[in-house]
Amino acid sequence: MGIHFINATMDELQMVLEDRIDRGEKSFVVTANPEILMYSEKDQEYRGILESATMVTPDGAGIILAGKILGKPLKERLAGYDLFLRLLTASAKKGYKVYFLGAQRDVLETAIANAKNEYPGLNVAGYHDGYFQDDSSIVNDLKKLKPDIVFVGLGFPKQEKWINLHLSEMEKGLFIGLGGSFDGLAG
Ligand code: UDP
Repeated sequence: MGIHFINATMDELQMVLEDRIDRGEKSFVVTANPEILMYSEKDQEYRGILESATMVTPDGAGIILAGKILGKPLKERLAGYDLFLRLLTASAKKGYKVYFLGAQRDVLETAIANAKNEYPGLNVAGYHDGYFQDDSSIVNDLKKLKPDIVFVGLGFPKQEKWINLHLSEMEKGLFIGLGGSFDGLAG
């Protein structure tokens, strides 16, 4: 389908992303499941976003299977939720500043409380629910806080379009779309 996936183990991916964060490099990660791939066939803007992202990870057994069939095997499935938990672990350990954007407010607040419990020392710089009319106060917050990681759970394609729209205004940070992961973390 013309999408270039990162071919790495989860350990390797985590290492690469931490290295980029440590160097203050901006990153935009898309965790692409088969649904996202199918959708990108009919939305040219979204497809362009996938092509311009720093990296696209294979988030689904179907994509791993397709790689095998095409003779271009990928090392490992790199699922959004797994990566989210890895990044929370790394953030607590290394003191990265994180920001959460998305989900219903009560869900998000529960997710953050659970994250702080599970990952003691986690530095949550800020958060905003995913139901807003105006981007500007969130964008201003992010520009001011300069988080190391911005977790965006607005569902696809909204989250990738939102990141793509505002990425150039940001100085640094790893931006990653995580779908319903905050709901998952909220339990
Ligand atoms: N969401 C949001 N703002 C919106 C639409 C959705 O914050 O305008 C959130 C929603 O509350 C849920 C997530 O985005 O937390 C979407 O989850 P879903 O599992 O549908 O997304 P997918 O994983 O399929 O991308």
